[in-house]
Amino acid sequence: MSTFDGRIREYPAIAVDNFQPTRPGVRIFLLSHVHADHLSGLDSRSFNIPLYCSEDTAKLLPAVRAEVSEPGTKKRSPAGKYTHLKPFLKPLEYQEPTQICIGAETITLTLFTANHCPGSTMFLIEGSKGNVVYTGDMRAEDWFLDTLESHMSSFSNILHVYLDTTFCHESFADFPSKSRSIEAFMEVIRQYDAETCFVIGYNILGVEPIWDRIYEDYGEKVHTIVRSTQRLSSF
Ligand SMILES: [Zn+2]
Repeated sequence: MSTFDGRIREYPAIAVDNFQPTRPGVRIFLLSHVHADHLSGLDSRSFNIPLYCSEDTAKLLPAVRAEVSEPGTKKRSPAGKYTHLKPFLKPLEYQEPTQICIGAETITLTLFTANHCPGSTMFLIEGSKGNVVYTGDMRAEDWFLDTLESHMSSFSNILHVYLDTTFCHESFADFPSKSRSIEAFMEVIRQYDAETCFVIGYNILGVEPIWDRIYEDYGEKVHTIVRSTQRLSSF
């Protein structure tokens, strides 16, 4: 659960992953990915500033549905919860530095994949107050860190890193890689006979590689409910 207050200390005109309508002086918003704990405040109808994100996030965000509460059920509204943000979306490609004016100064913004869920992004902000990195939720596997190393020239003279520390504790020292987790999942499936029907929950983005793997191993189509199909077909 993200507890970040959305403030980049060096650049008060930038807000990230937490929109507070009453906060003065914010010129642009950065969205790292579309998990609910990073969308705080974005349902506000007073949102009216450019929202920078990855191309996949820009496709996924309008597909997020609002929850409607009915006694005993958890249903989703057919209406998008964030469609009012469409006019403000500014999707950017990964690793393409972009100059953006934020009031009196111009910063350079570069996006890098965060290896978390589809569209997840780290932001590199370069400007007169120093260079800072905001990781958002990030999965720092060895291959991923090697890839980052190849971009080291981009990450020079970093003043501050706003780091995802969700599992940064010794008790998670042996945190399984994504591929190891999928392998463990498949091991469970293999314990059952071929006639078994599996119902797999899909209430959060990021589990899609499991479906790929099921298809690869068994050649079986993976069926989803209409809402999930719509969400998947958006990227
Ligand atoms: Zn997340």
